Amino acid sequence: MELLTIGAFARASRLSPKALRLYDELGLLRPARVDPHTGYRRYDPAQLERARLVAWLRRLGMPLADIRAVCELGPQTAAREVRAYWARVEADTAARRDLAAFLVDHLSGKDTTMSAAHSTLRIRYAVLSDTGSVRESNDDAGYAGPRLLAVADGFGGGRHASEAAIEALKPLDAGVPGGELLSALEDAAHRARESVSALAASDPALRDVGTTLTAMVWSGSRLGLVHIGDSRAYLLRHGELFQITHDHTVVQSLIDEGRITEEEAASHPQRSLLLRAVGGDSAFEPDLALRDARAEDRYLLCSDGLTGVVPAGEIQRVLASAADPGGAVRELVALAIRAGGPDNVTCVVADVAEQAALTSA
Ligand code: MG
Repeated sequence: MELLTIGAFARASRLSPKALRLYDELGLLRPARVDPHTGYRRYDPAQLERARLVAWLRRLGMPLADIRAVCELGPQTAAREVRAYWARVEADTAARRDLAAFLVDHLSGKDTTMSAAHSTLRIRYAVLSDTGSVRESNDDAGYAGPRLLAVADGFGGGRHASEAAIEALKPLDAGVPGGELLSALEDAAHRARESVSALAASDPALRDVGTTLTAMVWSGSRLGLVHIGDSRAYLLRHGELFQITHDHTVVQSLIDEGRITEEEAASHPQRSLLLRAVGGDSAFEPDLALRDARAEDRYLLCSDGLTGVVPAGEIQRVLASAADPGGAVRELVALAIRAGGPDNVTCVVADVAEQAALTSA
């Protein structure tokens, strides 16, 4: 096969000679031969496909090290890697979009006006936690108050960590100014982490203690959400159920990257392995989000003792039909126990309503 000059190869690949020289320098596409005297680069026509792949991956924004790895893979594996890369980009973009929306509101002063205009919103709430049918103790903790809702699922030392995490959040129930919701939640999450670290240091038996933490705080018409681990928050709006947290588990990241299906995840041997948590070996990276609360919304916070055994369709049915938060948590916990109750189960349900609607109810 005759080798092509860089000019001919550039024309055939629709890349500029400058780009080809760059790919060579970056080690992404080495010429088939470099003349030792003139330094002229010559390419094999069989390298065209790789040249185009490199160009496309660069247009995607993929980091150079990843491009190098993808180029070495067979087509099927390469396809999987590109899908996984894009899933990570989308997750990262979604998190930054939420933050940007919050900053726009905050900087334009919309925050305070909106809270003032809707300051009549209040929540009605209920919490129920149960040991389940298999475990000997209940290591979950739940809390519901006029402004704070929280669920924590402890591990590695009874309910010490879950209770400590919720204690650290409780001061928020006294109220937080709308503009400070996220920073107050972030500070509280750090306090939770410090409490859990102190526990772990206090007793060798509690060395691996940790907890999940999913909590919401209301201020005016806004609510702040902090989430770390695999407990979940759901929103029921106009009868439709939306999961508004993302599990920080190994299996969820495998689903996101297209490596396993939801069905495979349900029976995956490592389905309870956490990527992030408060304490333990996992990374402490809480997700923080700000949402607009609306009258008639119903929220559910729950530990994986519910979602591990009760399908989303059933949860939606109960939330859409229960007359009040108390009825909803009782029915949801009963469903988990009827499904075998293999884990501790904790549910917090809150209804958002106008102040007047609540007092007359
Ligand atoms: Mg659990």
